[in-house]
Amino acid sequence: MPAQDLDQIVNLCKRRGFVYPSGEIYGGFRSSYDYGPLGSLMLRNVKDAWVRTMVQQRDDVVLIDAAILGSPQVFEASGHLSNFSDPLVDCTVCKRRFRQDQLDDRDCPQSKKGCAFTDARAFNLMFKTQAGPIEGEGATVYMRPETAQGMFVNFANVLQTSRKKPPFGIAQVGKSFRNEITPGNFIFRTREFEQMELEFFVPPSESAQWYDYWCKSRLQWYIDYGIPAEMLRIREHAKDELSHYSAGTSDIEFKFPWGWGELEGIAQRTDYDLKQHAEHSRQKLEYFDQATNERYVPYVVEPAAGANRTMAAFLLAAYDEDVVNDEPRTVLRLHPRLAPFQIAVLPLSKKDTLMPLAKKIHATLGARYMCDFDETQAIGRRYRRQDEIGTPFCVTVDFDSLEDDSVTIRERDTTAQSRVKIDSLLAELSQRLGY
Ligand code: ATP
Repeated sequence: MPAQDLDQIVNLCKRRGFVYPSGEIYGGFRSSYDYGPLGSLMLRNVKDAWVRTMVQQRDDVVLIDAAILGSPQVFEASGHLSNFSDPLVDCTVCKRRFRQDQLDDRDCPQSKKGCAFTDARAFNLMFKTQAGPIEGEGATVYMRPETAQGMFVNFANVLQTSRKKPPFGIAQVGKSFRNEITPGNFIFRTREFEQMELEFFVPPSESAQWYDYWCKSRLQWYIDYGIPAEMLRIREHAKDELSHYSAGTSDIEFKFPWGWGELEGIAQRTDYDLKQHAEHSRQKLEYFDQATNERYVPYVVEPAAGANRTMAAFLLAAYDEDVVNDEPRTVLRLHPRLAPFQIAVLPLSKKDTLMPLAKKIHATLGARYMCDFDETQAIGRRYRRQDEIGTPFCVTVDFDSLEDDSVTIRERDTTAQSRVKIDSLLAELSQRLGY
């Protein structure tokens, strides 16, 4: 059964080295997290899985990696300077600040009844900083609050150099920054996070059909990587929730322990962004179709996901507790592509006689997969550790291996063991891992 309580995952992440509070030796830096040896591998796997589906396995999407620091002109054109704000209210009793749209009722979650809120003020979420040695308005730069603007400002460059034509997409994975009023729920909402975004440029008449296509295929992606369908839903925004430029937005939501929460938004952004940047930069941002002699500004369908939130959802969904040989065990039933390690090589003993063979096997498997190597503790405890960090297969090297050129493969999900010749080990594991 998936984790019922966020603390089950928070504790496991700390105990096993997935995620630590940032700067913990100084008491932590509020709502910031550092990804440890396992978490950094898993987060990378989440992003790689996205790139594999969205770029590698398609012929109509290219990848870019744009700058994080941006000039005010970009965010003036995009509307972020004037509009990217949340409604902020102060509780006059406890003095805490809240996002008005996140309060269930008019009571303050802190001081409950008897509180009074100030009127809502618009609070811009962008982080502002200075570039260069001279302070002043001319040196103001912003840290991007989404990766999307990188795709719009590079539209003409990419069009020219990639030889694509609509429908085609520009994808990007990278950090974004928002000065959130109420960060929280572990890595669900932080001020620094990673996004995985696609801007898909289409002929205007095809926008609705591509919106439908991306809603369906993005939902399927989460299911393909192991989230049970009943823990996911698509929620279409009501008309009064839509941004002024949006012709339709749907969120893919995951059933978090505290309720449904957004993993990804899919929006029909029309030609708003390209037109804004064309106007502000005085550059032509359009497509000329030589076949039809038609010139037009493409419409955009944008699936925008968060890597950290998605990682939390994969962890929560994969978490399980069962009983093996009368002993309770915790197991992360992660998709092999998402698990920090696909394989762990475990020499049964630390004796010198086994080490060379075990290291050789680790080197061979390590050329293809991320492999752990663990020679500490009793073998049973080592299996439990690998179960808890989600490693699909352990390869155990024992004294018989020196005689029969075979090793034991032990499966995470069933704990079943089988003996395999070292010669065919890589092929066998590749078949079982599915890649
Ligand atoms: P929310 O309503 O939760 O603030 P949003 O609708 O503002 O999110 P988008 O602007 O659509 O979010 O960003 C796309 C994705 O980026 C979100 O679905 C989410 O996965 C991720 N994301 C946005 N803000 C944060 C954050 N503060 N921390 C972690 N991930 C975030």
